[in-house]
Amino acid sequence: MRIVLLGCPGVGKGTQAKLIALRKGVRQIATGDILRQEVEQGTELGLLAQEYMDRGDLVPDEIIINMMQTHLQAADEVGGFLLDGFPRTVEQARALDQYLVSTGKSLDHVIALSAPGEVVVHRLSGRLTCNNCGATYHETNRQPRNFGTCDVCGGRLQIRSDDDPEAVRTRLQVYAERSAPLLDYYRSQGLLRDVDASGEVEEVYALIEKVLDS
Ligand code: AMP
Repeated sequence: MRIVLLGCPGVGKGTQAKLIALRKGVRQIATGDILRQEVEQGTELGLLAQEYMDRGDLVPDEIIINMMQTHLQAADEVGGFLLDGFPRTVEQARALDQYLVSTGKSLDHVIALSAPGEVVVHRLSGRLTCNNCGATYHETNRQPRNFGTCDVCGGRLQIRSDDDPEAVRTRLQVYAERSAPLLDYYRSQGLLRDVDASGEVEEVYALIEKVLDS
């Protein structure tokens, strides 16, 4: 199965992607998680990406497209992928299309998650992220069992540096300008399915599952 999950920062892409991957057995490719790992390890790519990420801007297309090539191939060898955070620009979507054409494959689902602005800002402003596995929690909505510790892997929970109010404003603006056009891109290909992501995690998952099973 090949799935693209779209939606603005804070809408719940990462949370839903992890559930889909777990329950449907599809490999999740989360560009944000990959980049954060590169930053943590101090690689050349990480050093390049960090300044863009810290200010809430997009890492340049050519860097992302290069990085994705190997991840897409590796996932395809084990039955497909669930893309979380890619593509984020029309240029990236075109590169993905080229990859699919070159491998004779196609996307099965493109799902766009959406929620009202105030819901998204609330989710982002209380978000806690595991520095080891990327699992996310919320200070009030979805607390971990033990304060400061990830339920899944025991890693340390922290507030992402790009979840500060200024970077959040930039990320939402960048989404509106550079990523929202993807909705029309996939709608015009007849691939896009809209899912209301304003409910609780399991409610949203049930809506996504309906699309995946349709
Ligand atoms: P995320 O965890 O998906 O919110 O991504 C965190 C940050 O990583 C973004 O704000 C961007 O700086 C960078 N990033 C992730 N995916 C992409 C992408 N497909 N294109 C460009 N930048 C990306």
